[in-house]
Amino acid sequence: MNAPVKSSKLIKGATGDWEVVIGLEIHAQVTSKSKLFSGASTEFGGDPNSHVSLVDAAMPGMLPVINEECVAQAVRTGLGLKARINLSSVFDRKNYFYPDLPQGYQISQYKSPIVGEGTVIVDLPEGETFSVGIERLHLEQDAGKLLHDQHPTMTFVDLNRSGVALMEIVSKPDLRSSEQAKAYVSKLRTILRYLGTCDGDMEKGSLRADVNVSVRRPGEPFGTRCEIKNVNSIRFIGQAIDYEARRQIGIIEDGGVIEQETRLFDAGKGETRSMRSKEEAHDYRYFPDPDLLPLEFTQAYVDDLEAHLPELPDEKKARFISDFGLKADDAGVLVSERESADFYEAVLGTLADKARDGKLAANWVINELFGRLNKEGKDIAASPVSAAQLGAIIDLIGEGTISGKIAKDLFEIVWTEGGDPRAVVEARGMKQVTDLGAIEKVVDDIIAANPDKVAQAQAKPAMVGWFVGQVMKSSGGKANPQAVNDLLKAKLGL
Ligand code: ADP
Ligand code: MG
Repeated sequence: MNAPVKSSKLIKGATGDWEVVIGLEIHAQVTSKSKLFSGASTEFGGDPNSHVSLVDAAMPGMLPVINEECVAQAVRTGLGLKARINLSSVFDRKNYFYPDLPQGYQISQYKSPIVGEGTVIVDLPEGETFSVGIERLHLEQDAGKLLHDQHPTMTFVDLNRSGVALMEIVSKPDLRSSEQAKAYVSKLRTILRYLGTCDGDMEKGSLRADVNVSVRRPGEPFGTRCEIKNVNSIRFIGQAIDYEARRQIGIIEDGGVIEQETRLFDAGKGETRSMRSKEEAHDYRYFPDPDLLPLEFTQAYVDDLEAHLPELPDEKKARFISDFGLKADDAGVLVSERESADFYEAVLGTLADKARDGKLAANWVINELFGRLNKEGKDIAASPVSAAQLGAIIDLIGEGTISGKIAKDLFEIVWTEGGDPRAVVEARGMKQVTDLGAIEKVVDDIIAANPDKVAQAQAKPAMVGWFVGQVMKSSGGKANPQAVNDLLKAKLGL
């Protein structure tokens, strides 16, 4: 469906160009206090088997009860993905034995998922935009964890995670490069975080991807895909795709064929390895779970959830561009985390009567604040400079009390020592000097001391910059550059 875009790079093989085709199945852990079908806690990091109800342990006679909050979270996510919400959906049993899922089957959704087709708009850093189709989103249970490193001859099972709700978000095979795939996952994660439906923490396993990869000659039908299971970082997703595309091209160019199979990504070696030949849906003997009624809700229920959704990144970005005059990439940086966007708006003071200049504020938030936070590996929540303090610094620049250069020193002082920026400026005498009388003396001295430069400037007026620099330096950066410039031009007769 995508028009060819720059980021859909062709790969050069020995016999010509190839195109990689990628579709992702993202497993996103639903943010909720308890599990999908039991009241056990979903908290991360408890002692092994401390968050396990009788349902999760699959004791005889136990029955699952649907967690209403997990259903609401899936609907919210579907709405955030601009997707069709199915008012009726069905839970199925997917039969397979895993030692960390004691039921002997996973409760999932197969033919009738809770959410149907949708779209995600993705922006790349170079300003390119493309869209990715969503095939479906369904709810399912997570499995537990096997611990192989606790005993020399035995494997232990931790069921804390068993039964936790996952949303499986399946994309269409619309992605054409590892770069696009990474940007898509990161956008999807941003949307989930805005919605508050998944924390997106890949290190804790809250977001994992099954990566489907195939290759073809440009314009030909899709090739056979291989599925790389459970990749748990955005960087690894990119590496797995690049490796896998090369591997498949190599096989086809050597006259071989791609067998559809499930593979593993070995992060240490940066390569994919065969795990098992691909199972087919019929191997799982899916059938509707007789312990659960079909999931039915009304359009009014969906509309109510929709009415309470937060503003999402795409809408926020459009608003920042139209209301505050920001460039698209600056707006994109600010909305990439909800906390950053909130901080920016707090700096702007849009709700107060004295709204500040949007571009100036964006500049300070992105270049000074984010730059400084990145340098120290700090999160926006841990910023030593508050939105109110940064707003005050911007006011001081705007009203001409301090120059942009002094503002950077002031920012540094507030960052390390705190304090009210206006009071700091007073106490340390950082005010900009616009009083021409005070500047004039400095200007006269410098002109008198540099007759050769005066001659040069009169021959080549751009040389006035050198004088401006000297005056600024001897005023400790406090002179108003415009006033200095005007005065110098008058004195030098330019
Ligand atoms: P399964 O459960 O068999 O993996 P799904 O329908 O859940 O099937 O997911 C299939 C995934 O594979 C989707 O993300 C889809 O976009 C992707 N896909 C399908 N065909 C291809 C292909 N030829 N090349 C790459 N990805 C593909
Ligand atoms: Mg799959």
